[in-house]
Amino acid sequence: MLAGLSSSIPATPTRDPERTLEILLQLTAQLTGDLPLEDFLEAVTNAAREMLGAHHASIRLLDTSRSMLLSGARSGTGDIGRPMEFRRDEGVLGWVVEHGQPVRIDEVDEDPRWVRGKPLSFPVRSIMAEPLWSSGEVIGVLAVTSPNGKAFGNDEQLMLRLLANCSAPPIERARLRRLAMFDDMTLAFNHRYLVPRILEEMERATRSGGDLSLLYMDLDHFKSVNDKHGHAAGDVVLRLFADRVRKAVRRVDILVRRGGEEFVLVMPATGATQAHASASRIQQTLAAEDLEIDGGLRIRQTVSIGVATWDRRETPEQLEQRADEAMYEAKRLGRNRVAVATPTPRPSDPGVGGGS
Ligand code: GH3
Ligand code: MG
Ligand code: MG
Repeated sequence: MLAGLSSSIPATPTRDPERTLEILLQLTAQLTGDLPLEDFLEAVTNAAREMLGAHHASIRLLDTSRSMLLSGARSGTGDIGRPMEFRRDEGVLGWVVEHGQPVRIDEVDEDPRWVRGKPLSFPVRSIMAEPLWSSGEVIGVLAVTSPNGKAFGNDEQLMLRLLANCSAPPIERARLRRLAMFDDMTLAFNHRYLVPRILEEMERATRSGGDLSLLYMDLDHFKSVNDKHGHAAGDVVLRLFADRVRKAVRRVDILVRRGGEEFVLVMPATGATQAHASASRIQQTLAAEDLEIDGGLRIRQTVSIGVATWDRRETPEQLEQRADEAMYEAKRLGRNRVAVATPTPRPSDPGVGGGS
């Protein structure tokens, strides 16, 4: 008789017990699935909002350094604009994370933990929050708010706890899946992702008849950055380098951290000329502006790049190896330059092999 739980937010929150049960059943079914992290968090905040008659629901998760509480999902009145950032010990939510204990506040103005002075895009008088526990650690916080005072009672608090308890472990699972896919430091894809991704793009190129190119990038004299400025500064250089590359290339291009100071850019639907142009653009953005490390330190970083375009026969490993060899050629020629891979020799195909 009732329609399924949609992702859209109902105009008026419902407190009908039958509906509550239905929302819970639907959510727990979603929790056992393999939803991407964001969808999953949103399913939880939507359910919290609807079940508890809250005007706003949010999940904040600790970042990988466990120092910041970052916005994971928001539903309701406050889901517009850039979310505020909180340190892990800041405000009501920080208190929940630090103490591993829930809160229920009837009037935030009367609570010293409430952070004043940060502009809120929506009115809040009541707040209720539960820590998200996974494997004996607090990984974040689930919170609901209302513009009315004394909006939540005991039942609501227990309901929020139920939601927090059943969603924390799957949230952590989704987060770990995500981390396994990305390199934590640069947010480039993890190297494990490289070969399967190249293979996928090769299949796509075969279907579409389009090209596929790779850039193999190795930072020049990176060891001396560590030696001169310390490993932490080296880490920032890696992060900023990855940012520069992402800005210089298309959204469809896939940046992978191959390891250490080596990156591969997978470029779908891209021939050799266009790939070479992108490689040059990456070098130009590095030459145009120093990388600004914290504390006013500025570093001019260069990169050597090898370009290889798929010959439509080789394996992902062979394609990567040609790009790598071209990168070494760029190093040999003096660094901070682009070298194009020589095509694979094909005795049966004498028309190819003219070099680059
Ligand atoms: P070349 O121009 O020949 O590439 O010289 P290079 O110094 O860049 O090459 P080398 O391979 O000798 O040094 C790479 C350095 O990268 C050594 C290693 O300590 C550093 N490195 C690898 N991974 C990381 C990392 O995650 N953070 C930092 N800070 N340094 C790293
Ligand atoms: Mg290297
Ligand atoms: Mg290097």
